[in-house]
Amino acid sequence: MDSDIEDRSENIRAPEFESRIYECLDNGFKFNQFPHDLEQMYLNYHHKARTKRFIWFGLIGLFFYNLFLIGDKTMLPDIFHEALITRVFVVTPLMIFSIIGMSIKKLSRFVDFLAGNIIFLASASILYFLLITNNPNVSNYHTGLIILIVVGNIVMRIRFRYAVFFTLLILFFFILTVSHIELMNQETVNNSIMVLFTIVCFTLIGNYQIEHENRLMYLNSLLRRIDAIKLEDSNKKLQQMSITDGLTGLINRRHFDVAIKNEWKNCCRSNTWLSLIFIDIDCFKNYNDNYGHQKGDDCLQQVAGQLKATVNRPRDIAARYGGEEFVIILPETDAQGAMTLAGKIGLSIEGLNIPHKFSMVADVVTVSIGVATMQPSGGGNLAQLIGLADTALYEAKNQGRNKTILHPESHRIV
Ligand code: GH3
Ligand code: MG
Ligand code: MG
Repeated sequence: MDSDIEDRSENIRAPEFESRIYECLDNGFKFNQFPHDLEQMYLNYHHKARTKRFIWFGLIGLFFYNLFLIGDKTMLPDIFHEALITRVFVVTPLMIFSIIGMSIKKLSRFVDFLAGNIIFLASASILYFLLITNNPNVSNYHTGLIILIVVGNIVMRIRFRYAVFFTLLILFFFILTVSHIELMNQETVNNSIMVLFTIVCFTLIGNYQIEHENRLMYLNSLLRRIDAIKLEDSNKKLQQMSITDGLTGLINRRHFDVAIKNEWKNCCRSNTWLSLIFIDIDCFKNYNDNYGHQKGDDCLQQVAGQLKATVNRPRDIAARYGGEEFVIILPETDAQGAMTLAGKIGLSIEGLNIPHKFSMVADVVTVSIGVATMQPSGGGNLAQLIGLADTALYEAKNQGRNKTILHPESHRIV
């Protein structure tokens, strides 16, 4: 049943959904009815349990209904034959049809109607017996209707609107029937109508209250679910924030340290290459000093965006290493692959065409790139790999910037 809530979790997330729930809780809901989509969710949520209850009590009711043949025989012997045929061959099959109907998925919208129908069929048969009998016991026979109304409204708990409809229908036909029974004196007729009317009122009030409480519980369970989703969302957000660099949105240095250790182990296990690309913006101090810190930040964001866009394998990670330095982890990638990507990065950042009049190497922002590759299973260690990439970057700076250098000790010839 929970899956109905899960299926609509997007719906649940919407803030207007939550405020609609609060509106229902604060202002109430008329005639035990929620606004449309909430009503649908409520019905779906309770559908299985409600149908099961209806079917079980339908079957139990069927047994007791036919058990009353004993009562027919003793109370109304003059019409026992008709009672037998009506109960066993007319009403019982119709009740069974209704019960079968409840278990058919296509008819799921009508379960309350079908359940009410069972109660109504049984009541109609009792009214029929009242009409055709000539036995003076007729004055007491209508008590069966009381049982039926209590079963329908309190035990089966047909939805309130259906309960009102069927119960009033039974009361209406009862009044119509008893007024045609000559064997009942007026006082008995009046009293029996009063009794039945009182039963109708109290059972409907009970039915309304039970359903109302169920609905309130449902709304509260939705709110609890929404709170849980919100908590889950904010935990995810916090976790995301803790691994992300605030300015660029790339993975931060702290998480880079964790990620690179993991990938080192992974590549060691799978006996594959692990590549690192260090990227450093050229003459960025000049950029900052001349264009201002804000422009410097904008530039860092643009460069980071370009890195994010270029790195696209699921396990690749682009991180901000610090200041205007970035790093890319490329698991299961050899030197050739890393150099191809590094070349692309260099060109694409130059291609951003961010003016940099104060650069020593070009009119636009450029980067220097150091690449290193190792096979973690080959005996080296992580610090060595980072050292190689850093040295390669230093070499790129040394050779005049705006260059990509692969460390010569990367164990694969390009
Ligand atoms: P090189 O070509 O040798 O890399 O020279 P450089 O000027 O880029 O390198 P240097 O290390 O001398 O200067 C880096 C500058 O990056 C210093 C600082 O002004 C700037 N910087 C570092 N972090 C940030 C930041 O978060 N925002 C901005 N706007 N600037 C930053
Ligand atoms: Mg720099
Ligand atoms: Mg630097």
